[in-house]
This record gives sequence, C-alpha cells and structure tokens, in this order.
Amino acid sequence: DLHIDKISKRYGATDVLRGISLRVAAGEFLTLLGPSGCGKSTLLRIIAGLERADHGHVRAGGRGLDAIAPKDRELAFVFQSYALYPHLSVYDNIAAPLIMRELTGFERLPVIGALLPGAGQRNRSIEERVRQTSALLKLDALLDRRPAALSGGQRQRVALGRAMVRNPKIFLMDEPLANLDAALRIHTRGEIARLHREMGTTTIFVTHDQAEAAALSDRVAIMFGGEIRQVASPADLYREPVDLDVARFLAQPF
Ligand code: ATP
Ligand code: MG
Repeated sequence: DLHIDKISKRYGATDVLRGISLRVAAGEFLTLLGPSGCGKSTLLRIIAGLERADHGHVRAGGRGLDAIAPKDRELAFVFQSYALYPHLSVYDNIAAPLIMRELTGFERLPVIGALLPGAGQRNRSIEERVRQTSALLKLDALLDRRPAALSGGQRQRVALGRAMVRNPKIFLMDEPLANLDAALRIHTRGEIARLHREMGTTTIFVTHDQAEAAALSDRVAIMFGGEIRQVASPADLYREPVDLDVARFLAQPF
C-alpha cells in the first residue's frame, strides 16, 4: 500500500499543499476530487517522484520512495495531455517503457533519442507483453498506425497501454479522460473500471468530474486549497459531507 505522510509544498508565497496525509490500500481505487487549482496535480507529481515535497514523505510497500530508483518504482503515470511519440507506431509507443528498461543505465537519456522504430519487435518477451496489453485495450488492429492517424479515444487508450505495459503496482492518472467527448468519456471510464477489476492495481485517479469519481472509486478524497477535507466512499460522501465547502462542491450539477 501507499502512505502519504504530511506532504507540504509551496510555490513562491503560495502554500499549494498544506500537510496532506493519505493511505491508499493495495488494490484500492482512490480518486482525488476538487476544484481547479486545489493542488491535485501537484500532489500526484510528488507521489510520482516528478517533483519534490518541501516536507513529508511518500512510502510504498514500507519503503520511502526517494530510496527507490525511478526505474524500480513500479509506478505508472498517465498525464492529462497524453504525450505519445509521434514518430513511432502504436506498437512502439506501447513497447517504449519496456525498451527503456532493457537499456539499463540509459534511463536518463532523452527518450526520443533512445527509441528506434521496431526495436520492441526483436525481443520475444517485450513482444508478448505488448500483445497482451493491446488485446486488453482493444488496440490489436491499430498497432501499425502513428498517433496522428488515431481518434482521441484511441490515443487515450495507447497512453493507458504505455502506462500499463510494465505491470505497475501503482497507477497514477491525472484527468486521463479530460480531452474526450461525452460519449467517449463514458466508454473509456468503463474500460478503466474493467482494467482495474482485472488487474487490481492500486490506483490514484484525479478528476474534477463528480460522476466519474462516483462511478469508479472505492473512496474519494475531497481537496480544497491544498488540504484534504474528507475521505470516504462515494455513498458516504453524499450522505454526510463533512462541511459546507464539501456540501456545496458536491451540490454542483454534473
Ligand atoms: P486543475 O484541476 O486545474 O488541474 P489542480 O488541482 O491540479 O488544478 P495544481 O496544478 O496542483 O492544481 O496547482 C495548484 C496550485 O499551484 C495552483 O494555484 C497553481 O497555479 C500552482 N502551481 C502549480 N504548479 C506551479 C509551478 N510550477 N509554479 C508556481 N505555481 C504552481
Ligand atoms: Mg491538475
């Protein structure tokens, strides 16, 4: 499981995170929900190790994250803007993290420079893993295409595939559905729920969409101004909001 302990972060004169503590159980789907600017992405970036907290720490499986090399963290991240490699096929985009892992010692090289088209097809175990992942996400028929020739939803699935291909223990998703139209959002939401059921990956999902949070989450953490106000199951949250901010936020139409 994941322990987030008294994380604080300040940008200039602004306290963006004010002592965030949170425990996420192994296999749990937890959503961070809150208004724009409340610190959701910042918290996720700190958990991912992409940014340092001023105070506090993150522990996974009993070990401090700082003590684990980035390549060994077994943690995957999907950004809101899913940056796929435009010059690579769907296959190579999904294979990229596995190829990078093979290139031990080269993790710090700029990714683009290290990746050659077709590199993953020459390695049996990489190929098998990419096939499994693309089957799960129904991308089998699209493996030879470039990202420019995909719809938004298909690109989103490739980004999910690239994150899942390493079998992460912890999956961090920052508004992965934000760029999709309403119908695709609902469809992809269902895919994420199904993947979570099948793989049981510990997941932290960020959204400001209540319907999404309610549909997907075991528990929802409501954030305001760099603090977590309440952590509860979706049902308990609507039944018993802990204060007026939470009640007002939940009362917004969605
Ligand atoms: P949204 O729902 O709009 O994505 P969020 O909850 O993810 O919002 P963050 O991106 O975590 O919010 O930002 C929290 C606050 O920190 C905002 O006020 C933002 O302007 C500020 N902030 C974020 N990154 C930086 C940075 N690198 N330098 C200065 N301020 C920053
Ligand atoms: Mg954000």
